[in-house]
Amino acid sequence: MFDKRKFYINGEWVDPITPRDLQVINPATEQPIAVISMGSAADIDRAVSAAKRAFASYSRTSLDERIALLEKLRAIYERRYDEMARTITLELGAPITMSTEQQAHVGIGHLDGFIDALKAIKMREVLTNGDIVLREPIGVCGLITPWNWPINQIALKVIPALATGSTCVLKPSEFTPLNAMLYAEMIAEADFPAGSFNLVNGDGLEVGAALSKHCDVDMMSFTGSTRAGTAVSKDAADTVKRVALELGGKSPNIVFEDADLEERITGSVLECFNNSGQSCDAPTRLLVQRTVYAQALDIAERVGREARVGNPEEAGDHIGPLVSDIQHGRVQALIEAGIADGARLLVGGPGKPHGFETGYFVKPTIFADVDNTMRIAREEVFGPVLAILPFDTEEEAIEIANDTNYGLAAYVQSGDLDRAERVATRLRAGMVHINGAPHRYGSPFGGYKQSGIGREGGKFGLDDFLEIKTIHRPLIA
Ligand code: NDP
Repeated sequence: MFDKRKFYINGEWVDPITPRDLQVINPATEQPIAVISMGSAADIDRAVSAAKRAFASYSRTSLDERIALLEKLRAIYERRYDEMARTITLELGAPITMSTEQQAHVGIGHLDGFIDALKAIKMREVLTNGDIVLREPIGVCGLITPWNWPINQIALKVIPALATGSTCVLKPSEFTPLNAMLYAEMIAEADFPAGSFNLVNGDGLEVGAALSKHCDVDMMSFTGSTRAGTAVSKDAADTVKRVALELGGKSPNIVFEDADLEERITGSVLECFNNSGQSCDAPTRLLVQRTVYAQALDIAERVGREARVGNPEEAGDHIGPLVSDIQHGRVQALIEAGIADGARLLVGGPGKPHGFETGYFVKPTIFADVDNTMRIAREEVFGPVLAILPFDTEEEAIEIANDTNYGLAAYVQSGDLDRAERVATRLRAGMVHINGAPHRYGSPFGGYKQSGIGREGGKFGLDDFLEIKTIHRPLIA
């Protein structure tokens, strides 16, 4: 078992002020793999002081100096890439092929997106009225990240903070702290100045809240549930911090009758199941035009039955367990709710898959004939659970798609690209994918409505971490 009880503060690995141990559990075996410390408000105080001191000089480094540091971090990340993938497999349960090709890959992809944006950014510009506008780092940033795409969310916050000349304190999820600690080792090796990046483990209620409330923190960037995002906003309000939020989703996926059904239904089911369904932008509401509904259900059922659950340590395209016992309980409760609300169970259902009684495994599950008022159509399940709903017309599809409190992603499948784009403009979502097009590094990621505030990645992700200063100067006639 790994001993990971130290925090990274002011360029050093230090003991917590008050020891409090927590075991990190491998979700596939339910066995402990590491012990970490749960921090306190006093540890946050120490980390924020270090970040504040570092800001005085780090904020004045040049763009070129920061690009050089990020490029060094990129080389180190590449060297330790496999270690990152293995760590995520161990603590999250993501199958090793998926960890290697997707989870760990984002650490490089986002770095490239931010470095490109940094090379193009104008930190000083002169307006046509003669005034000067400066972009300046916002200050000390509090970063709170979840467990589902752990290094993705860390990269989307830590890189823009350090890239813009801000300093930061990261609190990762205590379910997946090991990848964050590995990232801290990489940042240390890249020689970022002491105090520019700090890491404190702990729970949301104590450590997360201490960070959100801290008077020396200028900005909070949070990813996780809408419930916790609201708490961060309230905690940050008294000190008028900027708050960036990336929250949940219940993303609609509209399949028109002219889509390539075989290819697009298969892709849609697999995308919903990817990462065991634990993705905020997963296409979890599949809206299918009634003329092809029966055919679509046949394809979905076949793909659902073929989806395999398996050991995360083994290579392959199977899906792994959920991250935790709590998460397993939540997903089981929502599968039961789908049945109780009268949805038709097409594939899967409650309980663990045969042969996977140990570990937080769930059966990949598909419901047909779902009504948009049912809980499985309204709540984020965060498990491999797909809800299929029929519709008749384009207008009705748009109405059902937008009938949600969330607005993170949306998906449109159609053989007519003009129609797909027309529908995309009507959807109240931050990102619309047409015919399986993926999210690309450097493009803005974020949502409308209760899916969040702000955008992450590339140029737009840098903007979230920058203040704007206007210099009014006397104009020479
Ligand atoms: P949370 O939102 O509770 O956890 C995400 C992060 O926020 C963790 O680091 C957590 O710490 C922290 N946190 C929790 N409460 C607070 C608080 N009051 N102040 C500051 N930080 C806080 O997600 P859960 O793990 O509880 O998952 C619940 C549901 O949230 C999932 O079923 C899913 O629907 C959704 N979710 C959405 C994600 C997304 O990417 N949009 C990611 C993860 C979950 P701690 O773990 O110690 O509580």
